[in-house]
Amino acid sequence: MSRARVVAPGGWLGLLGGGQLGRMFAMAAQSLGYRVCVLDPDRDGPAASVADDHIEADYLDAPALESLALQCPAITTEFENVPAQSLAFLAEHSFTTPSAESVAVAQDRIAEKRFVASCGIAVVPHAVIESVEDFASTSDDLYPGILKASRMGYDGKGQARVANRAEAVEAFASLGGSAVLEKRLELAFEVSVIVARGDDGATAIYAPAENLHREGILAVSTVPSPQITPTLEADVVAATLRIAHALDYVGVLCVEFFIVRDADGLAVRVNEIAPRPHNSGHYTINACVTSQFSQQARIVAGLPLGDVRRHSAAVMINLLGDLWFESEEHEAREPDWSAVLRHPGANLHLYGKREARRGRKMGHVTVVAPNADDARRIALDVAAGLGIAAW
Ligand code: ADP
Ligand code: MG
Repeated sequence: MSRARVVAPGGWLGLLGGGQLGRMFAMAAQSLGYRVCVLDPDRDGPAASVADDHIEADYLDAPALESLALQCPAITTEFENVPAQSLAFLAEHSFTTPSAESVAVAQDRIAEKRFVASCGIAVVPHAVIESVEDFASTSDDLYPGILKASRMGYDGKGQARVANRAEAVEAFASLGGSAVLEKRLELAFEVSVIVARGDDGATAIYAPAENLHREGILAVSTVPSPQITPTLEADVVAATLRIAHALDYVGVLCVEFFIVRDADGLAVRVNEIAPRPHNSGHYTINACVTSQFSQQARIVAGLPLGDVRRHSAAVMINLLGDLWFESEEHEAREPDWSAVLRHPGANLHLYGKREARRGRKMGHVTVVAPNADDARRIALDVAAGLGIAAW
């Protein structure tokens, strides 16, 4: 890897992928004075529409990758499903984070579980399913389970809930490719931890966010986590750091955890890892000294990490495309943002997506307040005003 370290403000940072995570990265990098070039096939994508330059091309387009590398001495990604070989190619020319090896682990559930377990950290009980014959040897204890395609899943896509072996066999045929069959766990709650790690090995770790999912999609993140105990917090922080160090990870990494009840009380299981800023870390934009996106920009540019200190309690609510539809029959219409904006502590973030679709992440709101009770109260009011169910 060529190390054109440091890229001074005013220079170009490259980004592979053009969604909302890329948009927020670009905005953070631009705040630091950088120019951002996005490589993404979508002309109107959330990142391309704010970037200083856009290469409209497929992630595997060699000449396009080459021009990105020529323009940008340092490059990062916002999307774990970019082909690892594209990152490897870019890394031959420019400082590229995270590494192709780290992304390859995170983009394949089989490799991911194997890797996390090899770090001595508990994962969800599961079986690797390479072909339909593998179901014959799956333990009955894994049912009811969730069959997850090993690659390309996100927001609950590429998954099927299965009650028994027969349903699993049927679901496998429609998923295509290899999969993991996970036992469906009774979750006490879910948390995630985000760590920023520089290429000198320095780390900055954010406090855990407590995450509520609805239909497989993140709905609400609350910080500080109302339910976490000091012991569990120490466990998830230690596990996150161990994973980041074992990967020799450079960049922003998120580890999603399930908290489950076992014989001795509450225990931690790793669900999955994301080699990029994460939806559950959006609260850092408004509630922390340095956001997860600003850390990403600092790391790729070779600058020191920022302070992760949280100055406010926060509740982040995702805004899905469903909000644009009053009912099944109606045309899409803009939600009434005054329900959000009349609260001075509510920060509205919209991603500029042209078309609202059900289940599509269109934006988020982060409510900040001096204490957790106020943040929750205001967040519930914002949710009620938008027609989002309480939690
Ligand atoms: P994605 O890659 O789409 O984020 P996840 O595997 O993280 O998919 O699953 C999304 C959500 O579905 C989880 O955050 C959790 O709420 C629920 N879920 C996933 N796997 C399990 C499981 N084995 N047991 C119970 N709930 C699960
Ligand atoms: Mg997930």
